[in-house]
Order: sequence, then C-alpha cells, then structure tokens
Amino acid sequence: MAASSQHPVPAQATAPAGGPAGDSTGGPRLRAALDGIPAYAPGRPAGEGPVSYKLSSNENPYPPLPGVLESALAAARSFNRYPDMACSGLLSALAEHFRVPVSHLAVGTGSVGVAQQVVQSTAGPGDEVIFAWRSFEAYPIITQVSGAAAVRVPLTAGEEHDLAAMAAAVTARTRLIFVCNPNNPTGVAIRRAELEEFLDRVPSDVLVVLDEAYREFVRDADVPDGLDLYRERPNVCVLRTFSKAYGLAGLRVGFAVAHEPVAAALRKTAVPFGVSQIAQDAAVASLGAGAALRERVDALVAERARVTAGLAEQGWTVPDSQANFVWLRLGEEAAAFAAACERAGVTVRPFAGEGVRITVGEPAANDVLLRTAGAFRTGR
Ligand SMILES: *Cc1c(COP(=O)(O)O)cnc(C)c1O
Repeated sequence: MAASSQHPVPAQATAPAGGPAGDSTGGPRLRAALDGIPAYAPGRPAGEGPVSYKLSSNENPYPPLPGVLESALAAARSFNRYPDMACSGLLSALAEHFRVPVSHLAVGTGSVGVAQQVVQSTAGPGDEVIFAWRSFEAYPIITQVSGAAAVRVPLTAGEEHDLAAMAAAVTARTRLIFVCNPNNPTGVAIRRAELEEFLDRVPSDVLVVLDEAYREFVRDADVPDGLDLYRERPNVCVLRTFSKAYGLAGLRVGFAVAHEPVAAALRKTAVPFGVSQIAQDAAVASLGAGAALRERVDALVAERARVTAGLAEQGWTVPDSQANFVWLRLGEEAAAFAAACERAGVTVRPFAGEGVRITVGEPAANDVLLRTAGAFRTGR
C-alpha cells in the first residue's frame, strides 16, 4: 500500500473547519457531546486484610447456580468460534420462561448494554431523556454519549421517584424516560397504582423503560411486575439482567422485553456478537435452575431484613429496600462511614455528600457491616 500513502491528502483533513469539538492542536476531532461525561465509578474491590468482603457492587455472594459452570465450561471449548449472533437458544428459553413472544425480546451485554441500545434507538442531539436522581449512574453517561440532554428529577424526601414531577417534566423533546424499580441506590420501589397513573400520563410516543435489575428481590406484593404492565402498553420496555439474582455479573448478559418495533430497534442497535456463547449458555442454564435460585434469593432477602432491622435498632433511618442492598443517607459523613467499613474489612459504595449503598452479602459480611455501623454511630 505504499502508493496510497503518496495520495494527496484532502484539504479538509489538514484544515479542520473548527466545529464545536475542533481542537487547535490538530488531534482527531472528538464529539463535543463527550465533554464532561462523568466516569462510571465501579465498586471498590474487597481489601486484602484477614477480613475482606465486597459489598460495593450489588453482586451476588454465591457461586454459580447448579449446572451453570458446566454449561459455561462446555461453551468455552468453542471460543475460537463467534457466538450465535441471534442468541436463538437464549431467546427461546427467555420466551418460554417469561411467556413472551421471541419478537418482543432483545439481549445485550448486561442490561447496561441494553439500556444503551434503548438510548441509541430513541434519542439523539436535541432530544431529552428523563430519569430520577439519584438513580443508576449509567443513565447520565449513556444519555450524554448519545448527544441527548439528561433531565434529572430529584427523588422525594422519602427516597422515592417523584413520578408527578417526572410526568410534568415531559416536553415535546422527550423521547425516553428511565424508571428504576426498585431504585438503585436507594432500594425503594414504586407501587402499582402510582406507576400506572404515571404511565397513563406519559404520551404514547415517549418510551418508558422499567429497569427491573432487582426484580427477583421484590417481596412487596404491591410492587408491580413490569412484564404485566408492558403487555397492554406499546410504549413500555422492561429491562432485566442475569447480573444480580442469577449471579452472572462477570458474564455480561441482560435483556429487554418490549413490543415491536421497539424490540426490533434494540436488536438493530446491539453490538454484533456482543454476548458471548459462554454468557448465552450460562444464562440458559441459570433459567433452568429455578429452585436453587429461589433458595438463594430468599436467603438474601432474609439477610436484607436482618440488616435493615439491625441498623434500625442502632438508630439509623433505613428506607424500605426491595433490592439486594440498603441505603443510608449519611450526607457529609458518607466518605467517613465508607472508610470505617473498609478498615473493618468490608467495602461499600459511598456517594460523596449523599449517602452509602451497602450490598446485602453473605451473613458473615453482614455481621461485620452491622458491627461497624453500630460503632460508627456511637463513636461520632
Ligand atoms: C446492576 C444494574 C443493572 C444491570 O447491570 P448489568 O449491565 O446487567 O450488569 C441495570 N440497572 C440497574 C439499576 C442496576 O443496578
């Protein structure tokens, strides 16, 4: 290709017109929409002391469900091959498990990947995306990457979505609304009547995503299953993941349930071959391990009750969590609390100046957390 290097360079390549992201140093021009995007802050890993538990990323503390490791290892034998791009085995297993048509499903690299597909399918420069704040930290990142404007609607004093304010924030530019139920990081869930009233108010040409990453941990019977709500509403899309209850966070597989043509758009915007065969096969095996899944989730829900009650006894205000974590609104003490936990051997997830999200882990980890929280309260 020596000849091509001698081709005259087109004039515009050496003399950029100077767009919004124009760079006078002459480096590649990057989209101005990327300026100031907050970096995703992953939960800190467990420390290296004698006691070390990671309660900072809402992961499942248990090993893979029965049969899952075997499926994943079998799939690993073929990792010289591309995965099934259509994810046909996983789609048909999901369709059967959740009783939805295959045409209503789309998968992605975790439900964060699917959420990004949703944004790419609905919003771009000049459009608006509404979500509660504080909520899942991926929402502002994927919104800003698309070039759309993020509209953050503050949570209520009770750590709940302010659905009235979110409905009132809809404008002619709104294309998408994320509703995180239960909400990460506060754990509080929205009940059926409120959510239905909200959905009735949202214009039918605005897509509402019900992000149900923690659905399996919900025990309040008044909290609706998004899959019941989506059936009658073509502008509702439900996101689920294998990362939390199913314990496959490291494999990156999640999915959406939505009517056509939304589901078709999500398939179009997926990264080709994004979900590995190992992830696809592990997800199918996980769906088949229902009894073991229920047992583990029940154990975590019981621990959630124990942690919540223990903290409340110490005098903390703990919002009612329907997820696998609890939230303490520590304000300016958030960082100090997280540091105290780390010294004691548990890493939690602080949001500076706001609060701390604590994943419910194995009982021994929760014991350390409770002891540390008690000492922090009496010591301050
Ligand atoms: C953890 C989480 C997800 C799922 O993440 P994956 O990409 O599936 O691992 C999605 N939404 C919320 C609110 C979460 O907390």
